[in-house]
Amino acid sequence: MTKIDLTSIKAVDVHCHPYIANEEPYSPEEYLRKLSLSVLPNMFKKAKEGSSIKIFPGMNMYMQITIQRLARYFGCQPILEEVVAKRNEEAKDFTAFTQNLFKNVKLEGMVVDFGYPTPPLSKDDYQRLTGVPIWEVYRIEPVMVRLRESHETFGAFIEAYREDLKVALNRKHVVGLKTIIAYRSGLEIRAKNEQMAKDQYEEFRLNDRARAKELRDYCLHVAMEECTNFNKVLHIHTGFGDGEVVLPKASPSFLIDLLRQEKYAETKVHLVHGGYPWMEEAAFITSILPNVYLDISLQNPFVGHGVERIISQVYELAPFDKVMYGSDAFTVPEMNWLGVLLFKECFERVLTDWIEKGYTDKDMAVEIAEHMMYKNFERVYSDYI
Ligand SMILES: [Zn+2]
Repeated sequence: MTKIDLTSIKAVDVHCHPYIANEEPYSPEEYLRKLSLSVLPNMFKKAKEGSSIKIFPGMNMYMQITIQRLARYFGCQPILEEVVAKRNEEAKDFTAFTQNLFKNVKLEGMVVDFGYPTPPLSKDDYQRLTGVPIWEVYRIEPVMVRLRESHETFGAFIEAYREDLKVALNRKHVVGLKTIIAYRSGLEIRAKNEQMAKDQYEEFRLNDRARAKELRDYCLHVAMEECTNFNKVLHIHTGFGDGEVVLPKASPSFLIDLLRQEKYAETKVHLVHGGYPWMEEAAFITSILPNVYLDISLQNPFVGHGVERIISQVYELAPFDKVMYGSDAFTVPEMNWLGVLLFKECFERVLTDWIEKGYTDKDMAVEIAEHMMYKNFERVYSDYI
């Protein structure tokens, strides 16, 4: 049997967020909360006493995998309390802890969205912490929120907004813009309508979370235009996210009219999270539009054992040169680490299965893996890295 081994291949994570060291050691419940996509404080509570095997409220399969793999890494029992105690000890030197985890899985570069957490963390500090090259995507929504305060009219606002995006795009390490419009008014983007956008400006001035769909769509078009002018990439959040997402309008299909427009034929667009759970839609879009790409962040590693399934599913339609590795890690370096580790394990099984069935051979399988893990990133973003 030809077994594929991806451990020696480097990975570049094309979507994740920065964090800083925790000041106090984590309790087991706090640690689970850190691993979770939930931001609600009462989601994780103490386990019931009196049992040696504890199912903590809120614990899921991805967390169980994290505990199992960390126990292997630390050489301890795969029990939450033991793993967290070990982790707290190791994380006292947070820089060494982080860099050792990154080296362990050959994580060698990251595209970071500093739009979360708020207020934003320092890029230089995060770069020093991780010790790997960091590129940035610049979020448009905080710009809109900030500029609305100082600009009374829509005309002055939109001019300042465009100027702000240009300044950001002029920075070399900024590889593109990012939008979370899926969290605000959804992905069904309409044509630019200046009058309607203008009419909603007052509402947006009063409430930065207002739906203000026409205004948000207008701002998204401006971001597309500037990414086109700078030949940089627009990252669009698609699919699941945190509890705020406009779920009925978050699937990538809603973007197709926007992406098919003649004026955006050359615009590079990156579908963040690959539209999960609508990854077939994202994969289909990347298979028909030459400048649209997707990453598998969030679904990897948060669907746990399902990572194997989603890799296989994405490749049902997505071309090999369109899919990029990502994690959406956002609280602790173990997330970046587990992202690569679990992804490699799962991808090895998928590729080995394809070879066994005679769908591909070993050389091609390794090439497919390398494309997903770093080559597609290095090609698409070659002008700015
Ligand atoms: Zn994210």
